[in-house]
Amino acid sequence: MNHRLGDHAVVLGAGMAGLAHAVPLAEHFDRVTLVERDPLPDRAKARRGVPQGQHIHLLVPGGLARLEALLPGVVDDLSGHGAELIGSPEWRFHMGGGRLALRGSDFRITGATRPLIEDVVRARVLALGGVEVLDGWTARELLTTDDRSRVTGVRLRSEADPADERTLEADLVADTTGRGSRSPRWLADLGYAPPAEERLKVDVHYTTRLFRRSPGDLGGSRNVLVDVPPDGRRGGVALAIEEGRWLVTLIGMLGERPPADLTGFTDYAAGLWNGDVHEVVSGGTPIGDAVRAAFPSFSRHRYDRLRRMPGRYLVAGDAVCSFDPRFGQGMTVAIIEALELRRVLEAHGLDRIGPRVLSSAQWAVQDAWDLAAGGDLAHPEVEGPRPPSWRLTTAYLQRLLPVAHHDPVVATAVIRVIGMLDRPQRLMRPQLLWHVLSGSRRNGHRTPSSDDAVGSRA
Ligand SMILES: Cc1cc2nc3c(=O)[nH]c(=O)nc-3n(C[C@H](O)[C@H](O)[C@H](O)COP(=O)(O)OP(=O)(O)OC[C@H]3O[C@@H](n4cnc5c(N)ncnc54)[C@H](O)[C@@H]3O)c2cc1C
Repeated sequence: MNHRLGDHAVVLGAGMAGLAHAVPLAEHFDRVTLVERDPLPDRAKARRGVPQGQHIHLLVPGGLARLEALLPGVVDDLSGHGAELIGSPEWRFHMGGGRLALRGSDFRITGATRPLIEDVVRARVLALGGVEVLDGWTARELLTTDDRSRVTGVRLRSEADPADERTLEADLVADTTGRGSRSPRWLADLGYAPPAEERLKVDVHYTTRLFRRSPGDLGGSRNVLVDVPPDGRRGGVALAIEEGRWLVTLIGMLGERPPADLTGFTDYAAGLWNGDVHEVVSGGTPIGDAVRAAFPSFSRHRYDRLRRMPGRYLVAGDAVCSFDPRFGQGMTVAIIEALELRRVLEAHGLDRIGPRVLSSAQWAVQDAWDLAAGGDLAHPEVEGPRPPSWRLTTAYLQRLLPVAHHDPVVATAVIRVIGMLDRPQRLMRPQLLWHVLSGSRRNGHRTPSSDDAVGSRA
């Protein structure tokens, strides 16, 4: 153990943020208890508390690399349990009206279900000394010192028997209970100002189906993205996952709902502006039924702007900010927050732990929010502020993406930003600007390549 900071830390919620945060806490506390409302399955299986887990869920390159930094050896564990690791030469990324020129690049993502990723990470975390999980218990209320300046524990209720309550004393409590976090209410009950909430209404609908995969499918490509164009509402992804399957998620925005029945699902895929997802759907043998989910809005709680928070308390993961999942950043941001927690614990111990971690992880939340919200706001129907800086960035991206369809330097730079390996400002560096400007001049005389395959917009 690194320098000891206390006896007991409690993490509320054993989703991806909770698991990731337990790692640095186990480095400084004798015991870490993960409190989880769901009874946890003993093998990779979808569960009620993570309804998004049945849809596309991948770790982007920056998330996979950081998960390895958090838990060395975990990438081999994932692969040993059947997760695919998919290199960028096997991707087909259709964005901005064409396919990104990813030849020569070398990035990896996971091809796995969310339950498998969570199962492997949970096994690693529970193997750390002093970490245990208390499942089937819901966090109901915070316990504090009499003057309410410091959190001292949490009150829990059993899911099996609501009359059964217990308290857990703790030197630190972390709220990682996801989108439904009660921290705003808990803070208000304790006399603290709750965080302001920024909400983006996008009315996103996902429908997902599994298909049997054959080695020759899509000429060996294993990851397909057909982006929702700014003048459309439909997109889709197909990802090679464990047990020789394709996971196909069809996406609708602004109220558009991809159908669940196989014929409707196939027709919807056929209507996408690029045919690759349809090729997977129409050529594959379906497995089981479709699952659907709706996400009316995504929101960000501005804990970073609070002037007062109780001591020994922190909030992280979707409890702080949930992003439009089309960009696949949520788990990666949660892992970055956990790495920042590790740095803060080593540098400052428990002093102002909550605000310090929020502030040092702020860059990741901001980048991911800007990227996802920026993409959403490109749809004229999405309501939200569009400041001059957003207009400038959007105009630049409209020039950059067509160049990324034939210039691997630009395509690689785009993937490094979307994949959270680089910060978005890297797209503005002079060398890249030169590529974009000279590339767009050439584009003016260019005929579409076979990669572009643009059909009708849905
Ligand atoms: C459709 C969809 C697709 C997505 N795809 C991706 C993707 O491809 N890549 C990616 O990185 N991210 C993706 N995300 C985002 C990702 O799911 C989240 O960002 C990530 O799971 C955040 O983890 P979390 O631990 O904060 O929340 P969650 O994973 O939601 O976990 C919260 C946990 O807290 C538990 N809980 C809730 N309340 C209580 C309570 N009171 N007491 C005890 N336990 C409680 C829940 O049961 C749950 O286990 C997607 C999201 C959606 C909606």
